[in-house]
Parts: sequence; structure tokens; C-alpha cells
Amino acid sequence: MNSKVHQGHKARKRFGQNFLHDDYVIDQIVDAIYPTDDFTMVEIGPGLGALTGPVCSRIQRLNVVELDRDLAARLATHPILKDKLNIHQADAMKFDFTQLLEPGKKMKIFGNLPYNISTQLMFHLFEFAAHVQDMHFMLQKEVVNRLAAGPGSKTYGRLSVMAQYYCQVVPVLEVGPEAFQPAPKVNSAVVKLLPYEVPPFVAHDIACLSQVTADAFGKRRKTIRNSLSHLFNIEQLTELGLDPGARPEQLTLAQYVTLANALAERKE
Ligand code: SAM
Repeated sequence: MNSKVHQGHKARKRFGQNFLHDDYVIDQIVDAIYPTDDFTMVEIGPGLGALTGPVCSRIQRLNVVELDRDLAARLATHPILKDKLNIHQADAMKFDFTQLLEPGKKMKIFGNLPYNISTQLMFHLFEFAAHVQDMHFMLQKEVVNRLAAGPGSKTYGRLSVMAQYYCQVVPVLEVGPEAFQPAPKVNSAVVKLLPYEVPPFVAHDIACLSQVTADAFGKRRKTIRNSLSHLFNIEQLTELGLDPGARPEQLTLAQYVTLANALAERKE
């Protein structure tokens, strides 16, 4: 069989389609998700239903957001799943997830995400963090490492700071390429993201946190005295308790929030 054809569907590379087919891995992921009708359940990129099926066997209703028209249509006529699914044929990166909210319920969001858009999609999903109980995603292992990285690590970057601002990041499981069809070239991992009820550090204007992290990590090899010189001079950095000679990967989340709040105060 052509390895790109799975259940009669030809995998579309542009949609990042790598379908899970390892039942042991699927069971572990579904156990970690812990599906329940106490929450509004949402799957991004259900594809051929590798996770959708076992999740639906535990709950009554599942919202799915799938970009591929053919796959959305297949699910709409699926003999077992169709009655439990609310199918949204849409781009998850532009999707307003608040439209799925039910009174008194937070969302549990999960998916084996298309790797080509996973970082951008994470940033989009953080906007809904206040409405989310938890999220479980299969990502490139390298992206999970970046999400979980702390200061001083090579993989620590803007994604780490923004993810850890909103969520507790818990790597759950590593998955090799052979669990997918077609097999991706890279290793994968499942991560659990748990949005904080009360964030440990509060940025008064999230756009400022977004800006200082983008500007600092945009010039990763420079010291913050250089990369943030358009926002803060050396004295201001020192007054905020920061070493102007530090590089972006040395600053903690708390320090980025300090910078963001100093910037926000100035804008007021
Ligand atoms: N969940 C299935 C599985 O585990 O076998 C499929 C996973 S596959 C890696 C990614 C899925 O996301 C595909 O079904 C693809 O069509 C869908 N997809 C790609 N881009 C998307 C987007 N922007 N919004 C929603 N779904 C998307």
C-alpha cells in the first residue's frame, strides 16, 4: 500500500497530515486527555478520527475544527461518530473558540496538530486561556522542549515565555515517527498545557509582554542593552533590577513581566 494513502485518503502534506495509527499511543493520549462531558470538548484537526473515535466512546458531544473539506465531509457521514460531533470546517488559526462555550463549562482542547502551523496556533490559543481547563497537543518534540524550557537553556525563547505566562507546561509522552502514517521525519511529543486560574505574574498589558519578548529574542545574540535600547536605556534597566549585559535567554518570566509592566505604565 502507498504509505501516503490511509483509509482511502491521500495524506495532504500542505495540511500537515500525519495520521496516528498506533493504538497503544492513542490510548495513552486519550487517557491523558481524560474526556468528560463536564467540559466543552474540542478537537483540532480530527483527520480520519484516530483520537476522535476513542474520545467519542467516552462522551456525548465533541466539537471538531478541521480545515480539510474532504475529511470534514467524511466525519459528517461517519456512521458512529456523526451524531456526537459538531463539525466546524474551518482554519483553527482564525477560529474564535469562544463560540463553542457552553454556560458554566470551560473547554478542554486537544489535537495531533499539523506541525507546520503549531507555533502560530499556540499563540492563537493562548488568547482563549481564560476559557480553557486544559489542552493536550501532539507536537514536534523540539516544540515541546521549547514550550517547557527555562532560562539558560538553548531552547528557551519567546514561545517558552509566552506559554509559561499563561500555562503550566507538562510534557506527557514521547512518540516516535513509526506511530504515524506517513511517518514524519522528526520525533514527536505530547504536552499538557494547564492555564493558570491566577497567573503567577500579571502583565497589565499583554501586548507589551508580546513586544518585549519579540524584540529581545528577535536579536537573540545581543545583550538586552542593545536589543531593547529603543525601549529602555541602561539606567532604566538597572532600576528595574536587570543586568543590561544579560542576553534574552537569561531573563526569567518574572523579569519579562517587569519589563512589560514598565512599558505599559509609560503608555498610560
Ligand atoms: N487527528 C488526526 C490523527 O491524529 O491521526 C490527524 C492529525 S494530522 C497531524 C493534522 C490534522 O489537522 C489534519 O486532519 C489536517 O487536515 C488538520 N489541519 C491542518 N491545518 C489545519 C488548520 N489550520 N485548522 C484545522 N485543522 C487543520
